[in-house]
This record gives sequence, C-alpha cells and structure tokens, in this order.
Amino acid sequence: MVIVDPHGHLLPLSRAARGAAGRTGSWRTKKPLLNESRCVGCLVCWLFCPENTIDIVEVDGKSMPRIDYEYCKGCGVCAQVCPTKAISMVEEGG
Ligand code: SF4
Ligand code: SF4
Repeated sequence: MVIVDPHGHLLPLSRAARGAAGRTGSWRTKKPLLNESRCVGCLVCWLFCPENTIDIVEVDGKSMPRIDYEYCKGCGVCAQVCPTKAISMVEEGG
C-alpha cells in the first residue's frame, strides 16, 4: 500500500484507519501537548502515531501537527519519537 504525505511524497506504508478502535480518547489517562515553538514540522509524529490521529496543517507556510483528541489514546509514541521534544505527555484533565 502507498500513502501520500502532506508534501506529496509517496510512502510505501499502511496507515491505521482512524476510529477503528473506537473513540480511544474517552479512556485516555494522559494526553500529548504540543509546544509549537519547538516543532520543526518534520512529520515524524504523524508517521509513527499508531492511531492515525495526527493531522498536518499549514501554519505560516510550515507544516504543523494537530492532534485529534477524540481518537488519540495517549500512548505517548509521538512524544517519544519527536526529535525536538516538542510533545510532552500530561495528565488528562490537568
Ligand atoms: S515530531 Fe516533533 S518536531 Fe516533528 S512535527 Fe511532530 S511535534 Fe513537530
Ligand atoms: S499519544 Fe500521540 S502517538 Fe499516541 S495516539 Fe495520541 S497522538 Fe497518536
């Protein structure tokens, strides 16, 4: 399977279908918070999110991640793979 990243590159990858596991955000205990000032728009978080809950939006000509909290399950993979530590995991409701 081939998917197309937001810059139009063809990637030989499959992606999870968003919502395939239900509204995972309803049982999340921690959530990822993005510090936009640290984000370099590399898309690594988008690539590795196992729930496909990260969208890429254009902000001032730069690709930025936007997390869909309805389906984010709070696994922390995005925070672990981010090379600039732009994502931190915080307690839900905190
Ligand atoms: S991995 Fe980090 S630096 Fe790269 S787009 Fe995601 S938040 Fe931004
Ligand atoms: S914590 Fe990050 S990697 Fe995990 S589901 Fe949420 S957005 Fe995706």
